[in-house]
Amino acid sequence: MNHAKKADTKDKYAVLERFFGYSSFRRGQEEVVDSLLSGRDALAIMPTGAGKSLCYQVPALLLDGVALVVSPLISLMKDQVNALTAQGVRAAYLNSSLNDAQFDKALHNMANEMYKIVYVAPERLKSSRFIRAAKSIRIPLVAVDEAHCVSQWGQDFRPSYLNIAEFIAELPERPTIGAFTATATAEVKQDIVRILGLHDPLQVTTGFDRPNLFFSVLRPSSKPQTLEKLVKERSGKTGIIYCSTRKRVEEVCSSLCAKGYSATRYHAGLSDEERRKNQDDFVYDRKQIMVATNAFGMGIDKSDVRYVIHYNMPKNLESYYQEAGRAGRDGEDSDCILMFGQQDIETARFFIENTEPNPELSDEQNDAFKKKEEERLSFMIAYCKTKGCLRAYMLRYFGDTADDRCKKCSNCLTNFKTVDVTVDAQKILSCIVRTGQRFGAQTICDVLRGKESQWVKSFHLTEQSTFALLKGVRQKKIKSLIDELEAQGYIVYVGVGKPILKVTDAGWLVLKGKAQVQAREALTIQTTIKTEA
Ligand code: ADP
Repeated sequence: MNHAKKADTKDKYAVLERFFGYSSFRRGQEEVVDSLLSGRDALAIMPTGAGKSLCYQVPALLLDGVALVVSPLISLMKDQVNALTAQGVRAAYLNSSLNDAQFDKALHNMANEMYKIVYVAPERLKSSRFIRAAKSIRIPLVAVDEAHCVSQWGQDFRPSYLNIAEFIAELPERPTIGAFTATATAEVKQDIVRILGLHDPLQVTTGFDRPNLFFSVLRPSSKPQTLEKLVKERSGKTGIIYCSTRKRVEEVCSSLCAKGYSATRYHAGLSDEERRKNQDDFVYDRKQIMVATNAFGMGIDKSDVRYVIHYNMPKNLESYYQEAGRAGRDGEDSDCILMFGQQDIETARFFIENTEPNPELSDEQNDAFKKKEEERLSFMIAYCKTKGCLRAYMLRYFGDTADDRCKKCSNCLTNFKTVDVTVDAQKILSCIVRTGQRFGAQTICDVLRGKESQWVKSFHLTEQSTFALLKGVRQKKIKSLIDELEAQGYIVYVGVGKPILKVTDAGWLVLKGKAQVQAREALTIQTTIKTEA
């Protein structure tokens, strides 16, 4: 027996129009809606902003009984329930933000099938009162939002997600299950199907491409100056600036405010009240710029964000694409700019190295997780350093197909010239070898530029034959050449924290004069979409 049979699929357009005000479904939505209405489980992998919520909200309104939506995000639940209620949908949420009386009331109403949709935090699925109420009513559909949280491979593993399958097994009648996520790797997908116990689910993956987003990577010598320039070029527009630490958020936000920009801030160090206020100021256009850590953004539906600037490199491409993807949800052209520096790599490595092990996992699982994080970081770094198409790099990382050139990212639109850099490369390689292959890029750079710092002197590096071999050459140029040598496999970074440079077999060939090194030098870099002539 299946609850779904009672729904007339023709009504889905009426619901779409009446409750959501839309006349058509977006890519992938209708298939998922149809699947859930017909009683078939579904796994929908759609990027942020694609419209996953509608995929379960429309069936929830058409099916008899109360649909449950499992979501880890308290703020999202509240916003969605408010939005649904405003549209005349009977909806509620059950999470730790309710006091006892509010919880009792919501549970009582649910037990009387007074709601069509109930959002529930995964922790609640274990509560015996909740289970009792759920067992007494018709539950045609359980939608699992952020479904990748069941997988320990995902970066957001939540042990409480493991309660979901157990909870479903207790229900007198198995509901249809819809799982939703923006994370697409094969391991995570398999885990979702297995751990949630999906039966032959319809799998829908909508393309990850967001054609209206212009991606660029910059390597500024001064991040504050570059940021100011980027923000100035976009004055009057709404933007988010992500920084990797609270301290940096504070600095960037006060510096922008001091220059007269309408900016506010968001990070986990602020009180709940201030976070809520600052978020509302941004969402309701009282402030134009939000400077935040990655604590900001989940569940925020602001469609007219015209740019997302990353002041620091995130720890992996999953985070980057999700955060950058908060730009341009309305489909209008928007910019996603990442400012990258060598220091970002060190910070990211430090974070990985110092992440507390998850007490719910075994030592082996924690080790495997850390390894995975390091691997993910290396793809993030490669994205920052690639000279190929940025969009293609990202789409392929997510298992999507892509043309070699999108013509809408900073690399596709940068004017490069190819130059022979063999002689400078030999100087760098030689310096790495002669100083004993035990230093990182900064020291190598200092030695080559002839900098007599305490550090350099303490290792007697001023006495090396390669000392001051590139005197007068700008640090940025040498660092960029070191990156190029790494990207082309002539040198590798070894170790975490402060990694050291070592010369590879291919690098030795260059040193011995048996191979040439070519590099692509950027002449002009574009960071925004220009209307084509
Ligand atoms: P996701 O959960 O996939 O990140 P949301 O469900 O929050 O995305 O939807 C993103 C935005 O797209 C919302 O503003 C939503 O109202 C809008 N949206 C969803 N479906 C449609 C549709 N069929 N037509 C127009 N807008 C839509």
